[in-house]
Amino acid sequence: MPEAGRLKRPAYYLHQWFWGSVDWLFPATCAGCEKPGLRWCEDCQRQVELLGANVCRRCGRPQQDHTVCQTCKAEPPLYQSLASWAVYGGPLRQAIHKLKYNHDLGLGDTFSQYLVECLAQQAWAVDLVLPVPASPKRLKERGYNQADLLAKPLARAFGLHYEPKGLSKIKETTSQVGLTRPQRQMNVTGAFISEGSIVHGARVLVVDDVTTTGATMEACAQALLKAGAERVWGLTLARAGSQTAEGFSVA
Ligand SMILES: [Zn+2]
Ligand SMILES: [Zn+2]
Repeated sequence: MPEAGRLKRPAYYLHQWFWGSVDWLFPATCAGCEKPGLRWCEDCQRQVELLGANVCRRCGRPQQDHTVCQTCKAEPPLYQSLASWAVYGGPLRQAIHKLKYNHDLGLGDTFSQYLVECLAQQAWAVDLVLPVPASPKRLKERGYNQADLLAKPLARAFGLHYEPKGLSKIKETTSQVGLTRPQRQMNVTGAFISEGSIVHGARVLVVDDVTTTGATMEACAQALLKAGAERVWGLTLARAGSQTAEGFSVA
């Protein structure tokens, strides 16, 4: 979406200015290393392992090139593409943990700018942005949804329609960490429903903090397409997995 990336809207700048002022009045500590000063310091930023172009063009899984991986060839996902900014690890992992549990609204703003860069590089014709929803129970416990903190400023940056209620989570799921791929799929199947009056005919971008296998995004796409969405893309801040001698492992 290159043209949208160039034309950041006034509301986006106002938002950026607001959080800049808050940081000036109440100096932040870095979400990655606790160093005082910025919400996200340069040392931590340098340690981020960007995903770049060597990922499967459908599921975003790291590989040697930008072709479609064997898994997606055998069983194409329901979403068009899933992309992530960086590998989930090191200080970024710490920061995402803070975003999830510390109710740090400014942190969502800080990291959404990397999603803005990521989306500007994609040729996705999006017209509606939604966060992966949290369950009502989790929303009650924490009071917010971390995906919403990332998705809202992203939509604002591109002047795109934002509808946090376009998807709802109707099934409580357990953490995806430590589950096998089939277990992950089972865990999220039927977990979401989508509101046809909001998404019908729309080209939807779904935003989340972390992807592991893409099973959550697949479940979101299933609900959205069922409700009449035209196309679905996914964008997340980080991709979980680890770099091994054989390549990237997401087992
Ligand atoms: Zn730091
Ligand atoms: Zn793939």
